[in-house]
Amino acid sequence: MDYKFVPSVCPYCGTGCGVLFEVIDGKLVGTLPNKTHPVNEGKLCIKGWNMHEFVNSFMRLKQPLVKTFGRFMKTEWDEAIKITADRFKEIIKKHGPDSIGVLVSAKITNEENYLAQKFARAVIGTNNVDHCARL
Ligand code: SF4
Repeated sequence: MDYKFVPSVCPYCGTGCGVLFEVIDGKLVGTLPNKTHPVNEGKLCIKGWNMHEFVNSFMRLKQPLVKTFGRFMKTEWDEAIKITADRFKEIIKKHGPDSIGVLVSAKITNEENYLAQKFARAVIGTNNVDHCARL
């Protein structure tokens, strides 16, 4: 059995707590707080303690889904992006750019959040941008 601890950072919020992932035979099985990490000094909130669960969850989305006749169907990224772009154009033409809002997430990086707000303002044409930290 190959058992090891892999140091990492919790992806759930911007605090950036240090963790040690427990990995057995290449599979992530647990999360422990990193006692020597300067941010959390061995403490984690409940989300951090359980973060390994989403990695192996059967509910995790691994490819885009499109709702057709009330049912979610798997599709490819190119097709999902085309459908989304077409719908955005349709909505903007009918109701204006401020009919669309963009919600971003603490689970993505600052750079990705920056790109999302840039997309909202420069591509969609709306200032309706918000963040899950404020919800
Ligand atoms: S353990 Fe909790 S407080 Fe720390 S980064 Fe993760 S979500 Fe944020």
